[in-house]
Amino acid sequence: MSQEQATEATPERAAELGRRLRAVEQRIQAASSDAGRSQAPGLIVVTKFFPASDVLALSRLGVTDVGENREQEAGPKASQVSASGAMPRWHFIGQLQSNKAARVVRFAHAVHSVDRPGLVDALHRAMLRRADTEPVAQALGCYLQVDLRTDASREQNPNAPRGGAHPEELARLADAVAASDHLRLEGLMAVAPLGEDPAPAFERLAMLSQALRQQHPGATQISAGMSADLEAAVAAGATRLRIGSDVLGPRPGLG
Ligand SMILES: *Cc1c(COP(=O)(O)O)cnc(C)c1O
Repeated sequence: MSQEQATEATPERAAELGRRLRAVEQRIQAASSDAGRSQAPGLIVVTKFFPASDVLALSRLGVTDVGENREQEAGPKASQVSASGAMPRWHFIGQLQSNKAARVVRFAHAVHSVDRPGLVDALHRAMLRRADTEPVAQALGCYLQVDLRTDASREQNPNAPRGGAHPEELARLADAVAASDHLRLEGLMAVAPLGEDPAPAFERLAMLSQALRQQHPGATQISAGMSADLEAAVAAGATRLRIGSDVLGPRPGLG
């Protein structure tokens, strides 16, 4: 594993991140009080496409949780950040191939994109193997990613990329995660469907979460809400928000 350290962000960049972070935290506070919530959801800052130096700067600004969606990018970044002495929790939020599970469990605190039984199995086996070679303090957090599209929009767009499990598959997936000593069922994750109003979609997510908790009372987390729709997610009861561009700025190369 690389022991190369993260470089330092410039003072200007660190100050910009601080300003943006405070603005997002204020939005979360305002949305929480508008929703009558006594507890604001936790913030996961999505650092994909941004360098390890930004993660290090965010960590010094008090960010405890960061999110990444590509294993090839996240693994090296996580080792640079830890070589620099910062220890944020890494949340893996992107589509994950089963053959990458072993790499992801080396740095991830949680995986938010658990969407099929084969991946549960791969994560379980990867954690088992890891436990053979090093003491593993904690089970891997697992969020079941659910496809929030309505049946009508699924039929209209049958070839759209699959964004999570069908709601009917959740119970079986949850049982599979709960059956593993090395995995911890945290709850559900979703992305608001493209071109739909996020509010009713997040309400459907809240109902699915309620149904899940009948069988798995500890699976209380709801990971939902991005830069554009965090208010709707807070109103619907999200417990974790995944915010990228409003904290980091526009993603490099994406305009
Ligand atoms: C990139 C990403 C986010 C953050 O999106 P922003 O619009 O930049 O806030 C959240 N969740 C997932 C799954 C992502 O891939």
